[in-house]
Amino acid sequence: MSASYDADNIFAKILRGEIPCHRVYEDDNALVFMDVMPQSAGHVLIVPKAPSRNLFDADPAVLAVVIPLLQRIATAAKRAFDADGVSVMQFNEAAGGQTVFHLHFHVIPRYEGTPLHSHGRGMEEPEVLAANAEKLRSALAALN
Ligand code: AMP
Repeated sequence: MSASYDADNIFAKILRGEIPCHRVYEDDNALVFMDVMPQSAGHVLIVPKAPSRNLFDADPAVLAVVIPLLQRIATAAKRAFDADGVSVMQFNEAAGGQTVFHLHFHVIPRYEGTPLHSHGRGMEEPEVLAANAEKLRSALAALN
């Protein structure tokens, strides 16, 4: 039997407003906020609002709406953090590297020759996350 969705996962709590986040963008379909343990400055998460555990139980209609948003966030992140590139990551089940079991996509600014910090290392300072969220909001607003 496949694993089921747990409505008490931490991203579901963030989506319900029960736990704070450094919000970058929100619409009817998704919430975008800073990863608290960034693998690179500007590491941001795109979280569809529809409850699904990961890619395996996601509604394709949700994915169809989220990918264009992912494109905009990646473009904004590259500009906001003057990055050479951007890594988009998405993990499915523990064996696939997933630790929070609500579908999400990572957008991580990258620089030539600079390796990522390890996944899920220490927490970033709240003021740094707030400043990076503001940079991303400004870059998003400047996109066509
Ligand atoms: P994964 O499920 O492996 O794709 O990773 C979950 C990500 O969520 C990790 O990069 C964590 O640093 C991040 N994370 C965990 N809790 C929070 C939180 N409360 N707010 C923002 N990011 C979080």
